[in-house]
Amino acid sequence: MHIRIATGLLALMVALMFTEAAAAQSAVVAVTVIKAGRLLDPETGTATTNQIIIVEGEKIKEIGSNLSIPPGATVIDLSKLTVLPGLVDAHTHMAITYKEQPENNYYYLTYVMESSPLRAIQAASNGIQLLNSGFTLIRDVGNNAMYADTALRQAIEQGWLPGPTVIPSGPIIGSTGGQLWPTPEMYKQHNIVFPEYIDADTPDEIVKAIRQNMLLGARTIKICVDCKPWGYSVDDIKLVIKEAAKGGCKVEGHVQTPDGAQRAIDAGIYIIAHGNALTPEHHRQMAEKGIFLAGTDTPFTKYRGSEAAFKVTVGKLRDAWEKKVPLTFSTDFDYWNDRMKNDQTGEWLSRGEMTIAFLDTWKAANIPARDILYAITINGYKAADIIKERGPIKPGLFADMIAVSGDPLTNIDVLRNVQFVMKNGMVFKKDGVMTPEKFFHPGPVRTPNGRWTR
Ligand SMILES: [Zn+2]
Repeated sequence: MHIRIATGLLALMVALMFTEAAAAQSAVVAVTVIKAGRLLDPETGTATTNQIIIVEGEKIKEIGSNLSIPPGATVIDLSKLTVLPGLVDAHTHMAITYKEQPENNYYYLTYVMESSPLRAIQAASNGIQLLNSGFTLIRDVGNNAMYADTALRQAIEQGWLPGPTVIPSGPIIGSTGGQLWPTPEMYKQHNIVFPEYIDADTPDEIVKAIRQNMLLGARTIKICVDCKPWGYSVDDIKLVIKEAAKGGCKVEGHVQTPDGAQRAIDAGIYIIAHGNALTPEHHRQMAEKGIFLAGTDTPFTKYRGSEAAFKVTVGKLRDAWEKKVPLTFSTDFDYWNDRMKNDQTGEWLSRGEMTIAFLDTWKAANIPARDILYAITINGYKAADIIKERGPIKPGLFADMIAVSGDPLTNIDVLRNVQFVMKNGMVFKKDGVMTPEKFFHPGPVRTPNGRWTR
């Protein structure tokens, strides 16, 4: 009896091995060759001309000026364009869009009126719009309903649909209340704080909340440092950093007071979100410690902001740049209104177009194009802690890249009009037009077992 079971198992194993071997043999890996007129390296701020990039499957295989084109390869001629790595929004919110109507811009109401599944679908649409504007990587840091951010990450990783690589945080972890000031009824009887925030006051609760987020797919941990007067102490933040590191996650702190900023800096946090409360002295310390700033530098447009607020934002960004803080390009985008239209055509602006419009603030702060480019690429990959896997155009890394007309090193505005987008070796946009059909499948093409992977 035992022998018969063992023999049966052995036969099954052999059969499986043959099936796998056959599958490996028959799998044809697509080879794409890109002819780049100019290839820009934002790390060094230099460009080389007439480069050939060979992409095999999802990754970059070889780059050079004298490579021969492998037989059967698809050749993409970008000889009139500048090829560069994909862009990064280091602080955004994909699964929340609060509006003037009906919620009067109160996101409490969005949370009550829009379901998690609806918000997840909005997130999928936002991802496609961002990829169309050249954003191949985003950090998606909270207020995303019931883990719609980690679901988006998983869906894109599995190959269900196109989108940027998502670094999700799951719900924001904070001391009682998060950023909300609920009524007793909503707090006690309806647990209104979760899932927008996880209440975690004691060390045990903090550890538990971090483990829950990592269990459910978070790749970064986002905390409210000082959303409440009873915010986190230096020791609390150190505990967060230590626990998050066990799951390979870096920590971002939402900061809105000078005291909170100082506590976050003293604890050695990885990223500080929102530049408004930061003083020149904070900037000096952040530069010294290498703490990333996701300033969320909102421009003054007809659909958002005020002249006075913009002036403050520009001044703070300028000071942070002068003090050499590691800057990231970040938006905090999570809103919509009916003034979001193109002046000339009257057409709706896409989420991607409004995201890249944050360049207005960087230009107003007189930051050189080369440094803006470094912030929107290299520092973005570093802040996302992914630079060893994807971002730079180098052999062995995932093939994520974009192309534009003109030279972003001298005119940063050319980033507003991305002509070509490749993500994971697949062409998403060509000649200025989205061609995403290859991204759609009737099922997952990667990690089909559904497990969270790192
Ligand atoms: Zn935010």
